[in-house]
Amino acid sequence: MPRQLLFLPGPVMVAPPVLRAMDRPLIDHRGPEFAAMLERIIRALRPVFGTRGEIAILGSSGTGGMEALVANLFTPGERLLSCPVGSFGKRFAGIAASYGCTVETLETPLGAAVDPAALQARLHADSDRRITGVLLTHNETSTGVANDMAALAPMLRAHGAITLVDSVSGLGASEFRMDEWGYDAVATASQKALAAPPGVAMVALSERARARLENRALARFYFDLRRALEFSHIGQTPWTPPISILFALDVALAAYHAAGMQAAFERHAGFAGFVRSELQRLGFTLLSHPGAHSDTVVAAYPPPGIDPGPLLRTLREEYGIVLSGGQAELAGKIVRFGTMGDVAASDLQTAFEAIEAAQLELTSGVA
Ligand SMILES: *Cc1c(COP(=O)(O)O)cnc(C)c1O
Repeated sequence: MPRQLLFLPGPVMVAPPVLRAMDRPLIDHRGPEFAAMLERIIRALRPVFGTRGEIAILGSSGTGGMEALVANLFTPGERLLSCPVGSFGKRFAGIAASYGCTVETLETPLGAAVDPAALQARLHADSDRRITGVLLTHNETSTGVANDMAALAPMLRAHGAITLVDSVSGLGASEFRMDEWGYDAVATASQKALAAPPGVAMVALSERARARLENRALARFYFDLRRALEFSHIGQTPWTPPISILFALDVALAAYHAAGMQAAFERHAGFAGFVRSELQRLGFTLLSHPGAHSDTVVAAYPPPGIDPGPLLRTLREEYGIVLSGGQAELAGKIVRFGTMGDVAASDLQTAFEAIEAAQLELTSGVA
């Protein structure tokens, strides 16, 4: 079994120094060393979110961060506009529905990003402001589609609804300017572009969002963000945090900033562009439309005669190359190639040599 190269849209390959950061004794999560680390992590996250506002660190995967936003910002019966461009967008809507919100959907064709004109038209029609919240996905991992968050921002601000953003697979890889664009609540997680192990969600809140935390009618406990922020101010988390994962995240963020955010944006965009052109060269068809491509995950239909299942199995078992398949209605139809994490250009080369060889193997058997 060769060493595995992971090109999943999370979890991702984690650099050895980040992995080694976890190989140390645990510390008191109510002590000064932890407080210093938490402060360092939050300071490092500010430019990644593009905010000077509050950031809370939660012990959970990204979905917990999304749930925390919904649970802390809306009460049952509020009307939300969901703008899914894939299954993570639908998950966000599902969370809101399970908290008793009335969720309306702005439909977008498969492979496209949210159309700013369509969003503007829907918000414009809501002249009596019945919609109190809007759910958006910065980067949709299931379809390899990125939304133009800068272009959507002005119409959202003009309407005034509270805007929630799932940027679990976007932040760190693509620019996000939360304060400047005026988004209210943004969630991300440790195991995607920040290139750390899974287990930590991070959420940032605007002043408007913070004001909503005071609502006593909210149903929440573990994910009570008011409590999370109160503890954050004294260098702690309300509950026992995943200390070892935070050791890793601390080192990952230091490495991230040492290389520079701009370099990270360019690397992700460059890798995703390379993956798209190589897949097309091998006969794949991209799922995402031109102008809507993600910088962190490429979703594509294999050429005729190649099924995703056997292709993914051959790559994993014979070449140690781990790609992902489709989710929900795209299961068995597409492959997804993630470019986040400790990926080198030579790893991409290795992956494409394997894909080409596996394709040959699978088609020669058929004839
Ligand atoms: C990975 C991901 C999530 C969260 O998934 P978890 O498994 O809960 O960490 C949410 N949204 C998007 C867009 C993602 O890529």
